[in-house]
Amino acid sequence: MLMDRRAALAGLGVAAIGFAARAGTVTDTDVIIIGAGVAGISAARALKALGLSAVILEARDRIGGRALTETGTLGRAFDRGPYWLHNKATNPLVPLARQAGVGLLESSYSDGAAFDQGSLSRDVTWKAVLGAASTWELRQRLLLTGLKDRPLGATIPNPTPAQRHLKNIWAVEMGDDPDRVSRDGYYVLEAGEDLIPDIGMGSLVQGLARDLPVRLNSPVTRLTWSEAHGVTAEGAFGQIRARKAIVTVPTGVLASGALRFDPALPVATQTAINNLPMGALEKVAMVLDRPIPDLPEYAISNSHVQQGQYHALLVSPDKQMITALIPGPMSRRLSAEGQPAMEAFALSLLKNVIGSAARVQASAATHWLGDAFALGSYPHQTVGHADARRIYSQPIEDRLFFAGDAGDDPLAITVGGAWRQGGKAAQSAARLLNARIR
Ligand SMILES: Cc1cc2nc3c(=O)[nH]c(=O)nc-3n(C[C@H](O)[C@H](O)[C@H](O)COP(=O)(O)OP(=O)(O)OC[C@H]3O[C@@H](n4cnc5c(N)ncnc54)[C@H](O)[C@@H]3O)c2cc1C
Repeated sequence: MLMDRRAALAGLGVAAIGFAARAGTVTDTDVIIIGAGVAGISAARALKALGLSAVILEARDRIGGRALTETGTLGRAFDRGPYWLHNKATNPLVPLARQAGVGLLESSYSDGAAFDQGSLSRDVTWKAVLGAASTWELRQRLLLTGLKDRPLGATIPNPTPAQRHLKNIWAVEMGDDPDRVSRDGYYVLEAGEDLIPDIGMGSLVQGLARDLPVRLNSPVTRLTWSEAHGVTAEGAFGQIRARKAIVTVPTGVLASGALRFDPALPVATQTAINNLPMGALEKVAMVLDRPIPDLPEYAISNSHVQQGQYHALLVSPDKQMITALIPGPMSRRLSAEGQPAMEAFALSLLKNVIGSAARVQASAATHWLGDAFALGSYPHQTVGHADARRIYSQPIEDRLFFAGDAGDDPLAITVGGAWRQGGKAAQSAARLLNARIR
């Protein structure tokens, strides 16, 4: 049954690519969308539903952006990017996945444990970690709301062993050292129970791009938005003119200058982009020679956490694939050293969690920091820049719209937020184009 659905969705993805190849040179359209990730796909679907024409220009040779389910390397699905549909109660992709017949597996952070030398840690229980998290939440709500923003990490200056695990969770969630992340930017984000699409997030996203007009291998290098009549996107593919543009390129790529705006973006927008830097989160997936049935969904190496080596080991539902999530400075250092260093670190985590209970049969590692069309994992907000997400999400001269996971959304930094922001940008553009919006 699972394979049937995966095959069906993969077929839909091929249809979208086929359409792109046949599209030929487009010279005029209502809206140009830059980027065929979650936000771009959502924007294109919304515009199509409103009867407007749109073209998605995508730099890569595939759709999905950071959402990518790899099936070739490990003989099983490995989500190199997003894996969870966070906060199932409000996530807009949950009903879409259900409509598409995709199975959704329950997931909960309460199913975790800290380990040392192959056994449950004697120093820290998961109950104590969850307790530290609820106490922190309560304290922020009761005592600290309204205080000046500060680094998330500074809210726990002298952590207990259990609080070090809370900092570890923050590092994984935000993709950076909690000492560099804004407390306010973290606190506004919605959190709740998660779901996992059983076909993989990348496959789900690919299926949602069915029949959309995507032009692959089309990196936009310059976007001119000064003309009274609209915008022009340029690249090696030529030029495409439109009345509006929705830009869904990650903030790290925008900050790098790889996509030039003519005229330059307003200072407020550029400053907002610079204050929404990409964090780092790399994954090392390890397939074991046999399942380890007793492992929880989240397994953490206590001794590594106590030394500030932040990580999480994510255990697959069948307990045979363990994926190390490595955030922040550690991830940057290991990425610079190369894949063997990253894999050796993941192995040291695994060893402290399961002891010598199993062998790794196959492994695969990501390198999002070196991916020119991502340049990192997802964008956090720097300290003292509470307005950055709002300013980034504001249309510019009713012509240029930024949308993506950096947008002003309670599900920012996730696929749920990117989906909603893409849809919102499309609605705003459509309103200005006088489309009939219900
Ligand atoms: C390791 C990792 C784990 C994650 N885990 C989760 C998770 O479990 N759950 C969750 O909800 N989120 C997770 N995320 C975050 C999630 O992947 C993003 O929030 C979401 O995919 C962002 O979608 P987007 O459309 O905004 O951006 P993207 O997916 O990055 O899409 C932007 C698109 O623009 C294209 N592009 C870039 N430059 C150009 C150019 N010049 N011209 C044309 N096209 C261009 C890119 O190729 C890309 O396709 C994770 C991310 C990573 C990296």
